[in-house]
Amino acid sequence: MSNLDRQATLSVCGGRGFVVAEPVRELLSPRRVPLGESTEVRRLLPNLGRRMVGAWAFVDHYGPDDIADEPGMQVPPHPHMGLQTVSWLHDGEVLHRDSTGSLATIRPRELGLMTSGRAISHSEESPRPHARFLHGAQLWVALPDAHRHVEPDFEHYTDLPVVTAPGLTATVVLGSLDGAASPGTTYSPIVGADLALTRGTEANLPLDPDFEYAVLAMSGEAHVDGVPLMPGSMLYLGCGRTELPLRAESDAGLMLLGGEPFEEEIIMWWNFIGRSQQEIEDARRGWMEGARFGEVKGYDGAPLPAPTLPLTPLKARGRVR
Ligand code: MN
Repeated sequence: MSNLDRQATLSVCGGRGFVVAEPVRELLSPRRVPLGESTEVRRLLPNLGRRMVGAWAFVDHYGPDDIADEPGMQVPPHPHMGLQTVSWLHDGEVLHRDSTGSLATIRPRELGLMTSGRAISHSEESPRPHARFLHGAQLWVALPDAHRHVEPDFEHYTDLPVVTAPGLTATVVLGSLDGAASPGTTYSPIVGADLALTRGTEANLPLDPDFEYAVLAMSGEAHVDGVPLMPGSMLYLGCGRTELPLRAESDAGLMLLGGEPFEEEIIMWWNFIGRSQQEIEDARRGWMEGARFGEVKGYDGAPLPAPTLPLTPLKARGRVR
């Protein structure tokens, strides 16, 4: 997905300074961002209270939306730099096209993993016909400096490894959990897992104490380390945990996001992650001039223009502000 916020601001993220070294329970409320005329997404990262969790730098939760009589998702071609995008669905499907020539329909609990490397462009749309409900999350992973200029690539995995316990099915989206590893390519120590719990389940999820974690609630009613989480909210958990207690009051869907704290300072603006304001300005110009980010073939519509860069200079703010 594209960051469709027309008032896109430059923000500095990353660095070790603001990582919480011990276990905490910090509730992050979503910011509601309109997406087209009839729908909105709930943005959990970057958040007023926190900008990154490990290398996870962007988290949008959307739906479930009834799109039976709607076009659904229609995100025209737009560029990315310096990151990976993870498309994760609970309902519906997304048709992905990109400038490497990929054409894929991503379905619930399949991994659509796009590595922008130095430059890629893509479009995302609800296919026609499509399922009645659309519900999912769009996540970005920052690429470390040593790998942020890799060749652009798209991976699609329809059969991810699953870890089960009574009442819990954990699908490993990225990285590894309890010995099961996702086939998705990663560039930093990271984990992403989809947690499906049935009503009444109590479980303890094994964690790595060197990682920081957060849990995104997607559906149902669940308590994470004793904190009730409403769908569309996220709980930041800090570092230093070896396990995470979960309890489901109803059937519930959660996403566990974690990783080693991201040491490098990064600059995020619109759909780009760079290291300097100059890089961001060059990327914006490269997209508007049309050559650098390749071409998405087959999308019925014009590409997205980049928003205007803010005139205010960058201010370093770190992982929290
Ligand atoms: Mn995108």
